[in-house]
Amino acid sequence: PPPTKPPKNTRSEALFARAQNAIPGGVNSPVRAFRAVGGTPRFIAAASGAWLTDADGRRYIDYVGSWGPMILGHGHPAVVAAIQAQAQIGVSYGAPTELEVEMAELLCARVPGMEMVRMCNSGTEATMSALRLARGHTGRDGIIKFEGCYHGHGDALLVKAGSGLLTFGVPTSPGVPADMARHTLIAQYNDLDSVQRLFEAHPQGIAAVIVEPVAGNMNCVLPAPGFLEGLRQLCDRYGAVLIFDEVMTGFRVGPRGASGRYGVTPDLTTLGKIIGGGLPVGAFGGRRAIMSQLAPTGPVYQAGTLSGNPLAMAAGLAVLRQLDDEALYARLEQTTAELLAGLRRAAARAGVPLATTQAGSMFGLYFTDGEPPRRFTEVMACDANAFKRFFHAMLERGIYLAPSAYEAGFVSAAHGADEIRRTLEAADAAFAALACA
Ligand code: PMP
Repeated sequence: PPPTKPPKNTRSEALFARAQNAIPGGVNSPVRAFRAVGGTPRFIAAASGAWLTDADGRRYIDYVGSWGPMILGHGHPAVVAAIQAQAQIGVSYGAPTELEVEMAELLCARVPGMEMVRMCNSGTEATMSALRLARGHTGRDGIIKFEGCYHGHGDALLVKAGSGLLTFGVPTSPGVPADMARHTLIAQYNDLDSVQRLFEAHPQGIAAVIVEPVAGNMNCVLPAPGFLEGLRQLCDRYGAVLIFDEVMTGFRVGPRGASGRYGVTPDLTTLGKIIGGGLPVGAFGGRRAIMSQLAPTGPVYQAGTLSGNPLAMAAGLAVLRQLDDEALYARLEQTTAELLAGLRRAAARAGVPLATTQAGSMFGLYFTDGEPPRRFTEVMACDANAFKRFFHAMLERGIYLAPSAYEAGFVSAAHGADEIRRTLEAADAAFAALACA
């Protein structure tokens, strides 16, 4: 059913007006501004479980999950307790702690190929540092990344990146020196030939290949069979470091991340999001021979005032302990599959073409007739305008999807049968509205 009265976003509108005066675009990260979909971003006042409450007191079922970290849902009691207990005894010391040792040992035990790990404060820092390390280790400058993959906003990686940049139509940001971008070579996701050609052109020049093993910043594109294996072989043949950017997929697509799920082990892995339980965090780790090149044991410099800070470690450890549970991952995967099957049925009833992808509790929705996209160009060929209308039709009915056609969606352990049922009821009405428009 259509909403009986138009939604009131009075407080969000007032806050957005104030915000735009004091914060560029009113937000501290661009996609939050709703530019891609139009309208007023909802200012969030509180969250619990699978639900968000906005500043006007309206409630939404959340499929963004703070862009990935909230795999247990908001306000999980074990995580809240861990943060509270740590806050009592200190939020930062700038000296080593037992918590950091526990975190490092846990990550090394669960992430394939991780023999040592260094903590930092964001996914951006993790990928920047991993690249510097790969360059220091190999003595080479070139890197290969994939069009539509996003690895944070470090200069070298802000070339043909996905996510926010796709939304804003700037392939490469002004402010990135051409001299820097020159070392970033672009290949096509799921196209090994495009990688092979770059290696052949620069056989001694490539320090690293960096890839999102499931591409979650151009919607949610799954690796084609053989793609990740092929990258592994090419890196071995040419002496380059293979970096899996698992900032999004780590502990999300399975208990051992994408490398565990697809059975390919990189040389270095970057992490973030889930391992901080919603507090700012990043990490990069991998082969001991490479990680030992970092200061203070080696010459490659990297540091951080708040790196490994006890609050983020306590929150992250609390989450990771809950995630040592195959049954929880099986449930997440099942819930996500039910959601997607229901959405496809609802779309079909309304005659709206929809394709979906899924890796664990991460999913993609594509307004297209055909198969789900495997390539960047296929993602771009989907109907972004239909997504925009669907997004608003869902938002009005209390379903909070990512405000862009190029972002993956996330289901949490707090999404139960009731949330899925409500989401599918809203979707029925939203697809019907779309079909009429
Ligand atoms: N890598 C990937 C795969 C990401 O999805 C993101 C953020 N969405 C980043 C890196 C950057 O992380 P952060 O926003 O914490 O800097």
